[in-house]
Amino acid sequence: MGIEEKLLPNGVMLAGLEKLVNWARKNSVWPATFGLACCAIEMMTVGGARYDYARFGMERFSASPRQADLMIVAGRVTNKMAPVLRQIYDQMPEPKWVIAMGVCASSGGMFNNYAVVQGVDHVVPVDIYLPGCPPRPEMLLDAILKLHHRIQQEPLPQLGGSGLQQRVHSREAG
Ligand code: SF4
Repeated sequence: MGIEEKLLPNGVMLAGLEKLVNWARKNSVWPATFGLACCAIEMMTVGGARYDYARFGMERFSASPRQADLMIVAGRVTNKMAPVLRQIYDQMPEPKWVIAMGVCASSGGMFNNYAVVQGVDHVVPVDIYLPGCPPRPEMLLDAILKLHHRIQQEPLPQLGGSGLQQRVHSREAG
């Protein structure tokens, strides 16, 4: 038992602000609906009773990008859809994260042609690439848990917004 725990009354816990904020964030991620093709069926399955991603604080898919902080790009992205995807991403508040679900979203997959974006990272910054055609629901859950781990490690932005701007710039550069 640490010295601070001895001095505190029962039921009081100390934690760093950064850890506490990231713990709250990772346990309340709300995905935007962005099912584009067959991978979306597996993504929807994760919301059902069998896989039940509400266990991780992801109570629902958000129809409004303003209330979403995770974009799961599930399926191939066409050149026509790319500006729409980017606009929805821009409408999501910071901090926000992106999972490229499936080989089509990650690299264009088998659709190596003029109509399909060869990887959604040409349009938005991607945090997790999930392989498979389609990835199983368990794989998506695993990617979400890996994202949770990453969120837990993220530094908080500095007061005044400079840290947030740095993060945005580094995501756009990366
Ligand atoms: Fe469909 Fe496979 Fe592409 Fe997913 S990765 S969108 S399942 S073709």
